[in-house]
Amino acid sequence: MHNKTISELAQGLRDKAFSSVELTQHYLDRIQQFDGDLNSFITVTPELALAQARAADEQLAAGNATALTGIPLAQKDIFCTDGVRTSCGSKMLDNFIAPYSATVIEKFNSAGSVMLGKTNMDEFAMGSSNETSFYGAVKNPWDLDAVPGGSSGGSAACVAARMAPASTGTDTGGSIRQPAALCGITGLKPTYGRISRYGMIAFASSLDQAGPMTRDAKDAAIMLNTMAGFDARDSTCLDKPVPDYTANLDNSLQGLKIGLPKEYFGEGLDSGVATAIEAAIKEYEKLGATVKEISLPNTSLAVPTYYVIAPAECSSNLSRMDGVRFGYRCENPVDLEDLYKRSRGEGFGDEVKRRIMVGTYALSAGYYDAYYLKAQQIRQLISDDFKKAFEEVDVIMGPTTPEPAFNFGEKGEDPVSMYLSDIYTIAVNLAGLPGISVPAGVVNGRPAGLQIIGNYFDEARLLNVAHQYQQVTEWHQQGPARYL
Ligand code: GLN
Repeated sequence: MHNKTISELAQGLRDKAFSSVELTQHYLDRIQQFDGDLNSFITVTPELALAQARAADEQLAAGNATALTGIPLAQKDIFCTDGVRTSCGSKMLDNFIAPYSATVIEKFNSAGSVMLGKTNMDEFAMGSSNETSFYGAVKNPWDLDAVPGGSSGGSAACVAARMAPASTGTDTGGSIRQPAALCGITGLKPTYGRISRYGMIAFASSLDQAGPMTRDAKDAAIMLNTMAGFDARDSTCLDKPVPDYTANLDNSLQGLKIGLPKEYFGEGLDSGVATAIEAAIKEYEKLGATVKEISLPNTSLAVPTYYVIAPAECSSNLSRMDGVRFGYRCENPVDLEDLYKRSRGEGFGDEVKRRIMVGTYALSAGYYDAYYLKAQQIRQLISDDFKKAFEEVDVIMGPTTPEPAFNFGEKGEDPVSMYLSDIYTIAVNLAGLPGISVPAGVVNGRPAGLQIIGNYFDEARLLNVAHQYQQVTEWHQQGPARYL
């Protein structure tokens, strides 16, 4: 059962090969069996899951099921879930029981899916290795010495280890695509504004976007059908009709124009990953696509620009965590200032503090023009690079990450080398574009991901392009041997 995709499981439910309660119990058992090692869940919700599964079975019997009715899913612990702890991977919110659900969660609830639990993540989604979580690191199911990527590492690891058929992630600078690549699954970061951010704990509001993490592109299309759409409670959510993302999966790729940015294939790219990506491009040529070298000249400025804008926004967003209304509060504060200082000092981890300090500095009078304003100007140049490229090509392809999963501790002491692991993903967030990572090879036992970047609201095309590749290759069907 656990090797099936969402679309196969939905068929099994309709055919009564198994019930949602049986399916849910099977995944809960697997979580019990394997997650002690992997640590991909912060909270498992068996009672809720089984109650939702029972309701789904009734819905299935009544014949009014959706594509997700009765399908167990894992939700990143950044989405508020009514009545369930929502920690965002932080000690600061370890005691926070959300009093309402995020729009994404409400949409899954109305579709009749089942929540298995909340997945582990880097603290407040800041990280690329899942080492900054208050709840400890998540392990990569392909190799327990390797990081799963971050910040949606728990969501990636649980799908790779078949403890959930699919999960949700959020991507501010790569946090869906990078862990998807490192764990050998499919991860889609939609266009900024495609999915509501209401109830999704904010890191950097102009960059954050939710998306599906699945075994294949077809499942990502099914999930996106439910997740996407206008929400008046998020002023940056776009009021644009939601197409059926599964409708164009079988379109031919004959004549598709692929751009390969020369900046994505240069120094710093692991040779094994480069070989995997070159092989993937050859498959696309066989499918009728044409390939052209392009240039995104401001690529090298993406990481420094992001590390001004994201910390600036997070320093503002995280100011609400002050020990007063919710979250962690220090013991026996002597006065209000002591309460603020010690609650924040004790509640936040090192990486979060580093970002708050950088962001506060960048926004302070006298530095605002030199850092924040300059970063916003460069952000525009980065968007313009893509705009120009999309005048010539339909999609842009390259590696998702410069190397396969690295080992624990390898980059922890050096924030800059950690930040560079998002070098190919960050510009996409700065421009607000959609991007998908699909499994494209295994290098020394660790997966490599192909990133496909599309124009604004071109998710249907990205999913079609990814799906066609998955029709002629088997990388997406591979998984870590112990968990198959
Ligand atoms: N790794 C990047 C960071 O640490 C991106 C994280 C994300 O996308 N949430 O900020």
